[in-house]
Amino acid sequence: MSEDRPAPRLPDLDHARYLREALDLAREGQAAGSSPVGAVLVDHAGEIIARGRNRVGEPQTPEHVGDASVAHAEMDLFFQVGQLDEPHTLTLYTSLEPCLMCGGASALLGVGRIVWATDDPWGGAGRLIRWTDHPAMQDTQVVPTPDAELEHQGAALFAPEAKRAFPDEGWALWQRRYPQETAALEDAQASQ
Ligand SMILES: [Zn+2]
Repeated sequence: MSEDRPAPRLPDLDHARYLREALDLAREGQAAGSSPVGAVLVDHAGEIIARGRNRVGEPQTPEHVGDASVAHAEMDLFFQVGQLDEPHTLTLYTSLEPCLMCGGASALLGVGRIVWATDDPWGGAGRLIRWTDHPAMQDTQVVPTPDAELEHQGAALFAPEAKRAFPDEGWALWQRRYPQETAALEDAQASQ
């Protein structure tokens, strides 16, 4: 723990409740023509203070980052929320393990905790960032996949995008990590 940063002051939160919100936003993103990824930011009292979702496939507006490769759910959320108040007390919930950009941004902003529903064995940064080894990131706690049912929901939701966006090595990693959900998608596509 660095001396000039406050220790995380993180409450016990019902992770499943907020991951469901993130998954709802992911479905909203999919319906709008973007990727199915959603995120919510929760304060120490359990209030959702910001909601974000992927907007890569939509126009940019004054309120939302969009129409850009950086228009990920977490960046949409941080863009909306502006300056973070007491970031070490906040928990970021995402439907999918954050990428290097979003995980790095969250940790550099000093967000106290990141919780995700489903691993992304290709694009996720949880295994790339040794959070506790990096001086700027050591205060961010990481909680991967705390709810098995929601993890499966998230995997099934994102599997088509994983297959489309990273069809070769990435899809092979997805098949290894989530055999059930990826096989269901292959079966559904084969019978079309
Ligand atoms: Zn990202």
